Amino acid sequence: MLMTKEKRTAIRTVRGWAIAVLQEAGAIRECEYHGWMQDRADPHARERAFEIARHELPLDLSREAAALAVTEVLDSIGDTCPECPPEV
Ligand SMILES: [Zn+2]
Repeated sequence: MLMTKEKRTAIRTVRGWAIAVLQEAGAIRECEYHGWMQDRADPHARERAFEIARHELPLDLSREAAALAVTEVLDSIGDTCPECPPEV
């Protein structure tokens, strides 16, 4: 559910799963106004996300692939919403 407006089907992909895990851990959050995912840059939440990923591994995914998917999502998400005015 990265970019809720554009990619509804993402939740069915490995990426969608990784995003759900990161949200559950609190490592990323959705902008309440625009729906963009934002990296919260919280190392503890990231650790928690990898922990959850290990325990809630999709059947067709190896641990390595799962960890990589979570890392890739983190890498692709910025720490600010592109549509929100910059903080002053
Ligand atoms: Zn926003």
